[in-house]
Amino acid sequence: MREHQSKDWNYHPDLPLSDPSVFNWPPRPGFIAHWFWRNWLMLSERVILLVLAVFAWAFLFPSLETTQRFAVAWIAQIWLVNMALMIVVSGGLHWYFYILKGQGKRLKFDARDQAKGNRLWSFSNQVHDNIFWSLTSGVAQLTVFQAFTMWLMANGYSPVITLGSNPVWFVAFLVLIPIWSAFHFYWVHRLLHIPLLYKRVHSLHHRNVNIGPWSGFSMHPVEHLIYLTTLCIHWIVASHPIHLFFHVIYQGPGAAMTHTGYEDLLIRDKRRLALGTFYHQLHHRYYECNYGNQEMPWDRWFGTFHDGSEAATTETRSRKKRMYS
Ligand SMILES: [Zn+2]
Ligand SMILES: [Zn+2]
Repeated sequence: MREHQSKDWNYHPDLPLSDPSVFNWPPRPGFIAHWFWRNWLMLSERVILLVLAVFAWAFLFPSLETTQRFAVAWIAQIWLVNMALMIVVSGGLHWYFYILKGQGKRLKFDARDQAKGNRLWSFSNQVHDNIFWSLTSGVAQLTVFQAFTMWLMANGYSPVITLGSNPVWFVAFLVLIPIWSAFHFYWVHRLLHIPLLYKRVHSLHHRNVNIGPWSGFSMHPVEHLIYLTTLCIHWIVASHPIHLFFHVIYQGPGAAMTHTGYEDLLIRDKRRLALGTFYHQLHHRYYECNYGNQEMPWDRWFGTFHDGSEAATTETRSRKKRMYS
């Protein structure tokens, strides 16, 4: 067996997983600088999604003036752009990794291909099932949240800033949005794992044990509704449409990137772009662990951290038993 391979995984990072939280106490300035560098100063998921948001603000989405009064045309425009972004990002990743097989199974966590011919899935096909839920309920609800928030901003019901009027907050809020999103996600995700909600709602996302790009935003409509309440922060915290669009793209197409099923994109054998995390892959396989994401400390604080070891798997299984007994 190769290095970083086991009977359970085609590829896994160094185990046990380290603790890369920016909230470690006391703060380590070197580590935080490195975190900032990795996330914001080189090619990263966040940088790509921000570039998309700025592009969409300049050329694709309606302006705030247009959204002062509800009208079918501009809401349809938002829906169309969200649909296109979702298809380009999820479809592009799916095409590269699963159709073209651009890097084979290198850095792919789960050895299996996406499932077909199994009645667990709508249309008996994992990818079709995932596309269906992402593009129907997913894009529709993303659009409703976005359109309503733009209407609030356009009419002065929510505070709006510009880069010129408030440059420090403008930049700070961009950095804070993924952190806020992770905080919100941890808590709503715990809620979704309450057995009743899990069975009726969240199990749809968890059909995906072996995830692919289209799995990220494949959720039950009630989960989309709960998951997207993260966007309500723009109702009360001062923001610019670019913040809102970045947040929208981060929650929708961004989920495709983190569910790619591969750790990194390789270009000429070099890791050029971080995609999925083993951390969330463990959640999809063992369920009652790693509800948050790796750079946030919540799972460690609340004792639900799975570090990839056998002992953690045993503990997670007994937690699951207790929850369902
Ligand atoms: Zn997931
Ligand atoms: Zn879950």
